[in-house]
Amino acid sequence: MKDREYNKQKDRVRKRIDDWLYLTGISQIWKVTVCYERLNDTDNRPNWMSTFRCDADWRYNQAAITAYLPTVENLTDEDLDNAIAHELMHILLQEMRTASKSHNDHEERVATSIAQVLMRMRNIGSVPDKM
Ligand SMILES: [Zn+2]
Repeated sequence: MKDREYNKQKDRVRKRIDDWLYLTGISQIWKVTVCYERLNDTDNRPNWMSTFRCDADWRYNQAAITAYLPTVENLTDEDLDNAIAHELMHILLQEMRTASKSHNDHEERVATSIAQVLMRMRNIGSVPDKM
């Protein structure tokens, strides 16, 4: 990935992560560092390209999000927002991990479900009068 595209995607991710950190209030509690990778991470799985990686230490309210920019580049803004919301949920869920220290299918499912709820809330904006 060349510098121009790297910087474009980096700025795109940074702005959207900042927006989500504000919307969720996570930035009020956690110190979140964002890292940017020029290369894809295949996550040891062929045919699977990770968009983000999340490392969090709930003891200190510190987390790091790594963005794999070649994958980010191929996402629509909506899909990128969904991926960011999902990744931010991992910050909150990681403390539920047990001895394996590795995330499990349940954490993945909960992160996906909450991200979908957040996306819906953001996209709707407010409750219609008919409710
Ligand atoms: Zn996940």
